[in-house]
Amino acid sequence: MTDKNNSKAKNTRLSYKLGLPAAIARKVEKTGQTRGAEKDTVYQNRVLRSSTVLIPMSSWKAGVVPPLEGFENGYIVLAHPEEYFSDSPPTSKSDLPKDLQLGENLLVFYETRSQWIRYHPSKYGWHPANSRMPPLGGQYLARVPDTTSREDSLERHGYIDSDTGGQGAGIRIYEYASKTEIEATKYQLSFLVWRTEGIIDMAREEGRSNPEECQARIEEKCQEMGLNDLKLLQQNRIIDSEGRTVCPLCLKPILAQELASRVEQAEGRNVPDLTVTTANLFHVKELRAGVYNHYRYNLGWGHHHCNAAARDWGVERTLQWMEEVLKNNQRMN
Ligand SMILES: [Zn+2]
Repeated sequence: MTDKNNSKAKNTRLSYKLGLPAAIARKVEKTGQTRGAEKDTVYQNRVLRSSTVLIPMSSWKAGVVPPLEGFENGYIVLAHPEEYFSDSPPTSKSDLPKDLQLGENLLVFYETRSQWIRYHPSKYGWHPANSRMPPLGGQYLARVPDTTSREDSLERHGYIDSDTGGQGAGIRIYEYASKTEIEATKYQLSFLVWRTEGIIDMAREEGRSNPEECQARIEEKCQEMGLNDLKLLQQNRIIDSEGRTVCPLCLKPILAQELASRVEQAEGRNVPDLTVTTANLFHVKELRAGVYNHYRYNLGWGHHHCNAAARDWGVERTLQWMEEVLKNNQRMN
């Protein structure tokens, strides 16, 4: 291939965003990121799902199974001081898993005031960690909240500033997805957007010249990538028998307009627009510790309220619960 051909290929390189209205394209893009996290936690705020994974010691001992190809940006196991030290004297526990090494893939994590006092890191000459790849640059991290006592103060050490690439040490294990999976799911979500009600008109109103062709190209790409199995999508409650994108909980067709609207996150500050329902990314199988759920054929678009109801339990258990609620209220037999 000549240079000219190369640059042409680059220019015409397909994107999952092709033809999508800007607000929806942004929504699809954000699915590749983790959710928001507060400063006082160990988690990073809205970073790529392929980032370094944090694994609690209890999960590690219970036998967390890393993905076949491993974690792209590694993992860090977090042990509470009680899990790391034997009771007395302060030596490292002999029953620590052999594959863990402090400062390499293991950190001691202080979360309570009593841990901070009893096992103060200065007793062991420890430093707060600051790298997400081994060596981690220290042995511990701390997120101990302030108390009402005058002598106490907030203890935040390790991964706290721009020198360490931002706040937080890593992401929750169940949020993890490889870069390849992130890309595949974005294409599949775009494929689903093109099957929402009113999307063609909306794209045209935003000045996209040939929305039907954009849709066709995304469908073609998804076929190449094995992402267009309509039967499987229907089985997983992501589309209906007519091939329309539906909410995995209530099964109503999703409107393009619902995807373009944003729900007001800050409660009490703004009155949300109640005339428009908002639809967001929906994990059909619920997010659970130790299980990876961000993968193709498990992601759809669902209403904000349906999502809130099904987030912890997943669709099946939520439906059972709803049946019980309706029965108890004499709304069904
Ligand atoms: Zn719904």
